[in-house]
Amino acid sequence: MNSVRVLVIGGGVAGAACAIELRKRGIEVTLAERDPFPRIKVCGCCLGGAGIRLLEQTGVLPAVRAVSADTHTWRGYLDGRLIEIPSGDGIAVSREHLDPILIAEAKRLGTDVLQPCEAAIVDTPSNQVQAKLGSQVQPFDCVVIAAGLKSGNVGGRLPWIETPHGPFGMSVMATSTRIDRGVIYMACDDEGYVGLVQLDDGRVDVAAALRPLLGSSKTITLMQRVRNMLDRSGVDVDLDPIGNVLTTPPLRRTRQSGNGRVIAIGDASGYVEPFTGEGMTWALQSGKEAAQLIDTCRLDLLGLGERWNQHSRTMLATKKRTCRIVTTALRSRTARQVAARTLGIFPGIARPLITQLNKA
Ligand SMILES: Cc1cc2nc3c(=O)[nH]c(=O)nc-3n(C[C@H](O)[C@H](O)[C@H](O)COP(=O)(O)OP(=O)(O)OC[C@H]3O[C@@H](n4cnc5c(N)ncnc54)[C@H](O)[C@@H]3O)c2cc1C
Repeated sequence: MNSVRVLVIGGGVAGAACAIELRKRGIEVTLAERDPFPRIKVCGCCLGGAGIRLLEQTGVLPAVRAVSADTHTWRGYLDGRLIEIPSGDGIAVSREHLDPILIAEAKRLGTDVLQPCEAAIVDTPSNQVQAKLGSQVQPFDCVVIAAGLKSGNVGGRLPWIETPHGPFGMSVMATSTRIDRGVIYMACDDEGYVGLVQLDDGRVDVAAALRPLLGSSKTITLMQRVRNMLDRSGVDVDLDPIGNVLTTPPLRRTRQSGNGRVIAIGDASGYVEPFTGEGMTWALQSGKEAAQLIDTCRLDLLGLGERWNQHSRTMLATKKRTCRIVTTALRSRTARQVAARTLGIFPGIARPLITQLNKA
């Protein structure tokens, strides 16, 4: 069998899932992760049924469950109107815990993990990809970019289809004495949305996607904006932040997913807003499916990029479209009011949406 050497750039959920699947298929893989772990990152930390099933297939579910809190209810505040819906069995897990578990599994299966190590593609001749790992340049048969929202300067000639724009993400850990365990809180108004969930260790993960402010209103701190939104929405929680507030670049974007021997997965290939909390699930799935495709393309890795472009267009297309419709609708006050009124009277209407997003 043809021996293939793959580089995965980025050790978040997408990169680790890809390395794990590549190793299960006996493929040689090096994974470069820029940051030492454990590290925090902007994320709402919630996974539903589809994400849990992917973690199970990856082989890490028992370890993840040991550091997760169970979730069962979605409590939404749409322009101050309260809606409570059973969300199905989910988990909330901090990225300080989840990402090291996935990387440890990739390592256990034989991935060569370089960490901390910043990587970038320096050249893409037709027979290989040359990548810089720290100060050394090395050749690989193909490269998977899994570098998340800040992957713009990793190289690989994957042009933007839709350049980054729109709301930005922020998150912070906090303590609270008035939060219900197992409940995912979500407040939504003209500013964007804020999500809250209690983690296994009692801390509260606060994550938001906020509209950028213009002019003098910029002086307000992000934590104040979050508190104002929660107050306006009538969310009765006290939040005391622990540690720094983290932010992301603008969230909305789409990128060409593949070119020659280079492909992008997870947030590196594009982003749908986090309101429906599906980002990690899609990242895990794209990591796994990219590894399967690399295995299939062993004899023609130059054609990998085009095949990944085709595959990415259909993979998750319906789910992404559903999420785009939900997030676009929730940007309009009228649509939010109609949704709040309808769901307040008929909460069962949300069930098909939850079921569809939770399908593996
Ligand atoms: C406000 C907000 C709330 C969210 N809430 C949820 C939620 O509740 N549930 C959910 O499922 N998803 C949520 N998401 C989405 C989720 O966080 C992402 O979709 C997911 O983390 C994507 O995983 P990834 O592996 O593609 O990228 P990341 O997890 O960002 O990992 C990328 C990794 O690449 C590394 N890296 C970057 N550049 C380099 C380089 N040059 N060399 C080496 N390494 C590099 C980074 O250090 C990082 O570790 C949320 C997102 C936001 C913004």
